[in-house]
Amino acid sequence: MTQFELNTADSKETSQFAAKLAHLLQPGDVLALEGDLGAGKTTFTKGLAKGLDIKRTVNSPTFTIIKEYKGKLPLYHMDVYRLADAPEDLGFDEYFEGDGVTVVEWAHLIEEQLPSELLTIYLYHEGQEQRKIVLAPKGKRYEQLCKEIFR
Ligand code: ADP
Ligand code: MG
Repeated sequence: MTQFELNTADSKETSQFAAKLAHLLQPGDVLALEGDLGAGKTTFTKGLAKGLDIKRTVNSPTFTIIKEYKGKLPLYHMDVYRLADAPEDLGFDEYFEGDGVTVVEWAHLIEEQLPSELLTIYLYHEGQEQRKIVLAPKGKRYEQLCKEIFR
């Protein structure tokens, strides 16, 4: 499977890359964000929100698990970290199949409930402010999306 890779030098670059990706997103797209605490998953989501013209501040939805934002497309921001010990189905399908873009932090924790096609984005610490970002598309739509963003 082809993967795509880039490095960012600081949070601004991560955010800018996410905003660029946002411009290519369509209703029903699902992004899975993986990486350690502090890797930049929420920072990435904030950039994505900016690219979707969302004016409200995007925060980590630690206590709510799912937050919705209105923008050029609706953004459904999930952080399923709290489900690690007791996975439960909160009706995720309705979001995945909805007319917005869904971003899931710690997506592997709800692996069995994820759609079969999605774009997984891994963020790795490479130093204080350096991050490696790896895009792993599953399905034609997401392979195409990756090609587009790196064109
Ligand atoms: P996560 O959601 O993965 O736990 P956050 O986005 O909440 O991570 O936190 C990432 C932290 O790392 C932020 O304080 C951010 O400013 C900082 N940071 C430093 N360099 C980068 C970078 N290149 N990309 C993303 N975040 C970075
Ligand atoms: Mg986070």
